[in-house]
Amino acid sequence: MNALATGTVIQAQAQARSGDPRSEDVIICRDVHKWYGGYHAVRGVTTRILQGETVVIVGPSGSGKSTFLRTLNQTEEHQRGDIIVDGVLLNRNTRNIDAVRRNIGMVSQDFNLFPHMSILDNITLAPQRVLKEDPGEVRERAMEILSKVGIPEQAGKHPHQLSSGEQQLAAIARSLAMRPRIMLLDEPTSAMDEDMGKVLEVMRELAQSRMTVVAVTHEMGFARETADRIVFFDEGQIAEDQPPEEFFQNPRNIRAKRFLETIL
Ligand code: ADP
Repeated sequence: MNALATGTVIQAQAQARSGDPRSEDVIICRDVHKWYGGYHAVRGVTTRILQGETVVIVGPSGSGKSTFLRTLNQTEEHQRGDIIVDGVLLNRNTRNIDAVRRNIGMVSQDFNLFPHMSILDNITLAPQRVLKEDPGEVRERAMEILSKVGIPEQAGKHPHQLSSGEQQLAAIARSLAMRPRIMLLDEPTSAMDEDMGKVLEVMRELAQSRMTVVAVTHEMGFARETADRIVFFDEGQIAEDQPPEEFFQNPRNIRAKRFLETIL
């Protein structure tokens, strides 16, 4: 290793120790807390997520996974600690929160498609209204994305005419049409009665693309195959943060061990 490279590594190690941002950090959380009234749902989460990384959050129900995920685009505000996304510190005073949010796609279990609009209109709405893109180009891109997620033939239908899996694919397509750098997936397959395999396949492709993906899921197969890191939540805290091989084969935390015994 030459002197320059050695210097870079030493600097990166020093930054990692000090918690200073590195250029490839997309999300930095430092001691993040969230209360619902008197209930302390997220209790001091510190982590960093790199550009292109896929982080899968697992843990018992009620451990604060979804709440934490939602703080990352501020659909839930945190009350203490720092969240920095793309170099912007997020809090209620953040002026450009909409600009930050534009880079963050979010897909949750309840799809949130507009019921009175066609799938194509659901997808083209935000790029036209928010990004002010040319309607023709947006429609073309929307059709390409629908083909990519495997449901181009559903473009003219309304959400209620689609299966739950197809609705979720449409919701993912709608997020992708905004060209996000980060995708937050909040139990995207949990309300699925059919076509879950197709949704998981699209999630896998997202994880393998250059996008940064943070996913809360109970799908351990997906977690094992696609995650760079598994983050195990317990009682509002990160109890374990490991590459999947280590997490699944040799969890260190006793609660993670018990969780895996019940779920696998
Ligand atoms: P998980 O995703 O791990 O199942 P959640 O983040 O959904 O956990 O919830 C963490 C805790 O916060 C739970 O006890 C839940 O009941 C509570 N909670 C979640 N959302 C709200 C809310 N909007 N108001 C009050 N309590 C909430």
